[in-house]
Amino acid sequence: MTCEGVGMVEFEHVVVAGERLAGVAHRTPVLRSRLVDEAVGAEVFFKAENFQRMGAFKFRGAYNAVASLPEEQRRRGVVTFSSGNHAQAIALACRLLGVPATIVMPHDAPAAKVAATSGYGGKIVRYDRYAEDREAIGTALAEEQGLTLIPPYDHPDVIAGQGTAAKELFEEVGELDALFAPLGGGGLLSGTALATRALSPGCRVFGVEPEAGDDGLRSLRGGEIVHIDTPRTIADGAQTQHLGEHTFAIIRNAVDDIRTATDAQLVEAMRLFATYLKIVVEPTGCLGLAAVRNAAAEIEGERVGVIISGGNVDLERYATLLGSTESVT
Ligand SMILES: *Cc1c(COP(=O)(O)O)cnc(C)c1O
Repeated sequence: MTCEGVGMVEFEHVVVAGERLAGVAHRTPVLRSRLVDEAVGAEVFFKAENFQRMGAFKFRGAYNAVASLPEEQRRRGVVTFSSGNHAQAIALACRLLGVPATIVMPHDAPAAKVAATSGYGGKIVRYDRYAEDREAIGTALAEEQGLTLIPPYDHPDVIAGQGTAAKELFEEVGELDALFAPLGGGGLLSGTALATRALSPGCRVFGVEPEAGDDGLRSLRGGEIVHIDTPRTIADGAQTQHLGEHTFAIIRNAVDDIRTATDAQLVEAMRLFATYLKIVVEPTGCLGLAAVRNAAAEIEGERVGVIISGGNVDLERYATLLGSTESVT
């Protein structure tokens, strides 16, 4: 099932996405930590999408979107522009479904990300991020070669796929009082909100974005999509410049509030994940926990969900962020 038009994504689409993803995406674990619970004074349930295929929830939306395409479009192939997790997600989804994938990536994209994307069989088209516009390149490729463009967040089938993570969380732990999800362009948050309104109607839903890029917060307050320059933050998965039309329509309707976290708070959350849960979480994946710590007074004694959105971070960068200067010999 696909749907056209803004505001047309419903929980029913999340359910259909869940059926498509069954046996393909991992049903990721829900993690608990008594020490985290004590530290924040609430019962916290972590949905660990860092354990999802390719290391982030983005596989859900990408696979759902590619699998939803009619045969003719699948045969011609898919194009997307991204240097991050969406690129790997599209490349992997296309490989699994036998669909040709073209990924538009900047010349200076990290070698590990380029290698991971081409390792999944994606064809990479490089561009100069200072001189060229990736959206224009993607659109031109789509037109010239008859490819279908699948954007990273502003697409009904992407949103529906992302909503399956929260759906699984509620199915596993029951209703919650509050749920925190990282926010970039809003695919994850809008899908999460659709699942929450259907499965735990009384639960407050919070999006969390980097403080340096608070366009989502300003958009929600001002009632229209705010555009900003690419924010400087370690949360590279949330360096978006604006929400999407589809995502904003859902966020306005179904999200309670948007919170922010500083880079220092993200590093502190990375440390807590490593120490208490023994897991590697990328900076963007730490937004939820950072916001929960900031909101401790407001969520005291409550049952609180946190979506850990991904775990893809170079080890050198991880070590640098955590401040390790010691070498192991
Ligand atoms: C893409 C991404 C986000 C933000 O998701 P949106 O759907 O753009 O809001 C958050 N965390 C990680 C790890 C991501 O890859």
